[in-house]
Amino acid sequence: MLSIYNKIRDYIIVLNYKGEIIFCNESFLNRLNYKQGEIFNTSISNIITNEDKKSVERLEDENKTLEFYSKSNELVRINTNISIENFNNEKSIFIIGKEVYQKTYTMEMLEDLLDNINVCTFIADAYGKYLYVNKPFTNILNKKREDIIGTYNSDYWEENIYKVFDENNKEVFKNKSPKIFHEEILSGENSYWYESYKSPIFDENEKPKYIVSTTKNYSLSKIVSEELYKNYNIATLERDSNGSCNDLKNILTNIGENIINYTNADGLSIMLYDIDKEGLVPFIKLKDANKYLENVEFTRVKLNELKSDKYRVYINRILPRKKFDNTLNPDYKCVDELDYSGNYIIKLDEEIIGFITLSYRNGNGPKFNSDEYMKYISNRIAMIIKNVRLKYEVSVENKMREYTEKELERYLDISVDLVAIAGRDGYLKRVSSSWYDVLGWTEEELLSMPCTDIIHPEDLASFKGKKILDDIEGIVITNIIRFRHKNGQYIYLEWNSKYIGEQEAYITSAKDITRRLEIEKEKITLEEAVKSEIVKNEFFSNISHEFRTPINIILGTMQVINKNIENNNIKLDSLKKYTNYIKQNSYRLLRLVNNLIDINKMDIGMYELRCSNNNIVNIIEDITTSVAEYTKDNNINLVFDTDNEEVITCCDPDKIERIMLNLLSNAIKYTQENGFISVNINSTVDEVVVSVKDSGIGIPIDKLDMIFDRFGQVDESLNRKCEGSGIGLSLVKNLVELHGGKVSVKSKVNEGSEFIFSLPINLNEESNNKYDIDRKSKHVERCDIEFSDIYNL
Ligand code: ADP
Repeated sequence: MLSIYNKIRDYIIVLNYKGEIIFCNESFLNRLNYKQGEIFNTSISNIITNEDKKSVERLEDENKTLEFYSKSNELVRINTNISIENFNNEKSIFIIGKEVYQKTYTMEMLEDLLDNINVCTFIADAYGKYLYVNKPFTNILNKKREDIIGTYNSDYWEENIYKVFDENNKEVFKNKSPKIFHEEILSGENSYWYESYKSPIFDENEKPKYIVSTTKNYSLSKIVSEELYKNYNIATLERDSNGSCNDLKNILTNIGENIINYTNADGLSIMLYDIDKEGLVPFIKLKDANKYLENVEFTRVKLNELKSDKYRVYINRILPRKKFDNTLNPDYKCVDELDYSGNYIIKLDEEIIGFITLSYRNGNGPKFNSDEYMKYISNRIAMIIKNVRLKYEVSVENKMREYTEKELERYLDISVDLVAIAGRDGYLKRVSSSWYDVLGWTEEELLSMPCTDIIHPEDLASFKGKKILDDIEGIVITNIIRFRHKNGQYIYLEWNSKYIGEQEAYITSAKDITRRLEIEKEKITLEEAVKSEIVKNEFFSNISHEFRTPINIILGTMQVINKNIENNNIKLDSLKKYTNYIKQNSYRLLRLVNNLIDINKMDIGMYELRCSNNNIVNIIEDITTSVAEYTKDNNINLVFDTDNEEVITCCDPDKIERIMLNLLSNAIKYTQENGFISVNINSTVDEVVVSVKDSGIGIPIDKLDMIFDRFGQVDESLNRKCEGSGIGLSLVKNLVELHGGKVSVKSKVNEGSEFIFSLPINLNEESNNKYDIDRKSKHVERCDIEFSDIYNL
């Protein structure tokens, strides 16, 4: 246990009840310079006052400051704790304690301390009279301490400044508690900001005694923060402001000067990294930096080199001359005069923007380590540079936009086309002045309504359809849309539009093509008139030929008859033949006239069907059978077939027969001997389909389209095999269509043709079956007329 006591730094003294020292530890012996034998078993009163001895023996206080005398009679005051404990199995008095140290500092020491700290301090009385100021404080006023003491703030500052100081002093007295104030001092053009911690001291009567204050210059961080805030605001809010390199130079020079003030450096430079040139360019040179960097315009260094370990050791710290290496650029001047230098990296999010370098001349080393502070400032500077650059970019962007806006404006003014920017919402956003000229609506009116409001209802679908296509960026869509003029007329606009995804808008340009369309229309009408004139001429030349042939035959025959009469050479046989010629050719003339009259009636819409409910199968079968005689004469096999014996539909029996006779006469005309003709009827609930098929000469494929046209003849030569006017099929088509049906043809040259017509099945409730039982008797004459073209009648 004793050895443990001896190791303890606190003093331990053990007394018996007689007040004799039975143990004291080594630290106590050492402090009082005694050896064990000198004080062991002697009364404690040998080394303390009698009074203290008594109070110890009586155990008056548990805690008491006892005054001991050392061997050399030095008074050693020890704060003790006194207690009764067992020592070697006997109850003993334990005194355990620590020395009470005396105030050993002097006034001079305190003043030295205050003069050499990095803050300004002062003591002023309740009225603001300076009682004490430290050296850094005298630097602010640039006056001696003895000249300041006894003076007031009002002796140095303008009223508006000292009033603030005095009010702040009053406030801390009033509130009886210390407070931090931010106070501004204006000196010349510069303003300095101080953070003052003011604490009130009161006398024993609680009356204000004096005020103690520590004051720290924080101008640099304030400037940096303000610049940052200012630039941030400009870059993000004031989009129209100009940013420039000069702005940045001024800001960084101001900050640089404050850094010099703060760090007491002799020179400062800021180099910015130029990514394109791959190197550092001096941007700011202050004081000695002008000298060192006089010849330095550019220092080539790659970004990844700067990030490498080789450079890392030189960055963000102050280094003495011997430790740094300026091999980066041989143009650095007077480097030998340098004592210390510090390079701090300016970077933001791993992007190296540049460096800020402090230099200290021989004999003026840095007074304190400002590395941490410089790192903080460098980071702030990085933000400022970034913001200024951003501000600059934004302003360039704005200028470009302004420029394009003006260009657009000019274009809109001079464009003859209707130029517009339309939004996806269907509203026009900008329109050229030509819109008013063409459509009569003012710009205001046009922008206030969706453009669909003035689009022709019939063109809306096409407009909307194209608009969807338009959404594919880059494609130019052309469309013709009618827009309503303010006067109600529609104007045709040929509309080109392109979708610009970024703007979510369409750029459109349109031309008024109403006049062009009118001209085109006029041209078409004119062409049609010319065409119909040609057709008319052709018609007359055709028709005259058609008329002339039978008339010539009739007249010729008559001449022969007359001659025979004159010669008295009349034979019955030949007379019969001659009258037959006259009859056949008269029928041809009759047929021609009938067809012409009908076609003409159809053209002017005066042709009427006389419809009634009839069994169409009967009509077709009867008329087919009635031509059997002709086919027999020509050795043509005629077959009739139907899938249904009775199909009642509302039709005009005369016209059905006319259709059939035309198709059958053609089939006979164009089918050689020993050929065949088949007539087939197929019916469904809705329609009846009739086919007239022959094994004749067929129709060339390129003529199929024209045979239903009026005068559409495949063989137009005068010495054609068959007679015909080219009206028959056109009549057929008209008659079928008048019944609501359709006609078509399939044909192959040398194989045959098939004409198919279909008629819808309709029943007329009111109509009675008017099918004339006598019709058959009329068939012969009708056939004669319709078949009058066939030569060998
Ligand atoms: P046409 O009175 O000249 O016969 P159509 O209008 O009846 O006039 O016929 C027009 C032309 O169609 C005919 O000139 C002929 O060339 C051709 N055509 C009509 N039917 C047939 C057919 N069954 N076989 C071959 N050609 C035909």
